Amino acid sequence: MKRGGAPRAAQAGRGERASAAPVRYRVGPIDPDAHRFEVELAIARPDPHGQRVAMPAWAPGSYMIREFARNIVWIEASTASGRRVALRKLDKATWQAARCDEALHVRYQVYAWDLSVRAAHLDSTHGFFNGASLLLRAIGHEAQPCELQLDPPTGDAYADWRIATTMPSAGAREHAFGAYRARDYAELIDHPVEMGRFTLASFDVGGARHEIAITGRHDTDAGRLCRDLRRICREQIRLFDRGRGRAPFDRYVFQVLAVGSGYGGLEHRSSSSLICSRNELPHAGMREPSEGYRSFLGLASHEYFHSWNIKRIRPAAFVAADLQNENYTRLLWIFEGFTSYYDDLMLVRSGVVDRAAYLGLLAKTISNVQRGPGRRTQSVAESSFDAWIKFYRQDENAPNAIVSYYAKGSLVALALDLTIRERTRGRHSLDDVMRKLWERYGKSAFDGGGGLAEDAFPRLLEETVGLRLDGQIRAWAYGTAELPLASLLRPFGVGLALGAGDQGPVSIGARLAMRDGQLTIASAYNGQPAERAGLSAGDAIVAFDGLRVGDEAACKALLARRRPGDRLKVHAFRRDELIERELALEAPASTEAKLALDERPTAATTRLLDGWLGTGAGRRAQDRISRTAPAAPGPARTRA
Ligand SMILES: [Zn+2]
Repeated sequence: MKRGGAPRAAQAGRGERASAAPVRYRVGPIDPDAHRFEVELAIARPDPHGQRVAMPAWAPGSYMIREFARNIVWIEASTASGRRVALRKLDKATWQAARCDEALHVRYQVYAWDLSVRAAHLDSTHGFFNGASLLLRAIGHEAQPCELQLDPPTGDAYADWRIATTMPSAGAREHAFGAYRARDYAELIDHPVEMGRFTLASFDVGGARHEIAITGRHDTDAGRLCRDLRRICREQIRLFDRGRGRAPFDRYVFQVLAVGSGYGGLEHRSSSSLICSRNELPHAGMREPSEGYRSFLGLASHEYFHSWNIKRIRPAAFVAADLQNENYTRLLWIFEGFTSYYDDLMLVRSGVVDRAAYLGLLAKTISNVQRGPGRRTQSVAESSFDAWIKFYRQDENAPNAIVSYYAKGSLVALALDLTIRERTRGRHSLDDVMRKLWERYGKSAFDGGGGLAEDAFPRLLEETVGLRLDGQIRAWAYGTAELPLASLLRPFGVGLALGAGDQGPVSIGARLAMRDGQLTIASAYNGQPAERAGLSAGDAIVAFDGLRVGDEAACKALLARRRPGDRLKVHAFRRDELIERELALEAPASTEAKLALDERPTAATTRLLDGWLGTGAGRRAQDRISRTAPAAPGPARTRA
């Protein structure tokens, strides 16, 4: 997809009319039980030298080569009049049609049985597709408008199926099968489509209608969900457009798939696809958000924030993205990390969760980062660059070698935000930097605007808030220095303490998991007791000091009676060979964060804290919760 360049048709001298001819797609859930979509792509004026078509290798927002072409079951081409046109496969994802001087039709079937937000899924209960995994790109015609005809599955059993998508209608009635349109290929694949019998709820905010389409069995309190999401969306809209409070779209859809267990989301320009456990959705009578519901709201908030930060404010490297190959940027710590910072922050600022709950969520993120020794090896800038081969393809060595540009990136955002607020005495914050990014790069994104260059961020920050933080950015994002969070939080009246948490008195320095019914080392941390004793990921633990260790509970019970410095004899199977090792137990590392608010804050700390976490609905909600539910502290209240 080369949005920046002139369309090839215009270069070939065919003039305006030719370049404006729409590329037409027809998608039908042809056989739900066999999980097959059939797609037809019609190109009015194919390349006279032989039209090429290609299936993207990855989906924007998910940085891994996924080879969607492998799900094409068969493909053929013909002219409009039905004459067969030969198709030659050029590489794993590209086909070239024989020369053809009339409209070219390419027909193919796609196997759709990937229950994720990234690809396509079809059965007799629903259908979903992310265009990048289903719709071939007509090479050279990417800038032309597209039309998409959505056909319903045949049979009375599907008579009540509807459509949930933000793709603009080209004649289809609301939520109905029919004709839709997009201004170019990039937009076509940025409006995922859900079809089936979903629950539909809606609310208005920021001049835009927001819909929630919930697929799958669930008993959601849709009114509660709408109220909470509306507050979160309003907070985000006001962050970016303080004056008018307008959303950057007219319509937004949260496509939610409720399953037994699952978690994930993918952002699009005016919608997001979410998978969650049905137990995470709010039920009638729920008062304070459950841990699961908070996590769902955090996910929805995250994907919604991307409407600005990455869908419109983009890294320059993604502006004319190459969908067949990896696209490299060192800036995912800004686009994913800052989004991860604001996702939970928006929950407290909007008053959907109270301050104690927010600090509990923040403590969890700090602990996650602290547990990974990989933060001393890899910077978040390197992690961004290598997302394609490392963060998205984690193996047993990942904790030693990788840092998450999401989790640590969100803490870099926190550190920058607190620094700016403290040094400018609350006059400026990271919010101002986000607004500057929006003004400069976001507003014009779909009208040929560029993206954030790899080295432009420190200057933009300085220009916005009048502080030069190059050294901090270099150390925190491009280096592996520990973030000085405790000293940065102190002026805000928040104490940070790191301790052993509930890890027990000793550690073997490994993460254990049940695999095939056996307690197995999932990861052995570099330089820690298990690795030093010669134990490895994949070793199945049999016994400690001659006593069988069948599961994690037994392991914990045996280690609960030991002290740092004790020796422990370990029997384990490596493949089918029994090995014996002796390790020296150590005290667990201080990785578990606890955050607590000062009991007697000064006026200055209160001012800074209110500026950071908000004073409006957030404070009111906190007061309301402490008045109405004093006897039932949730887990987050105790964690904070
Ligand atoms: Zn994200």
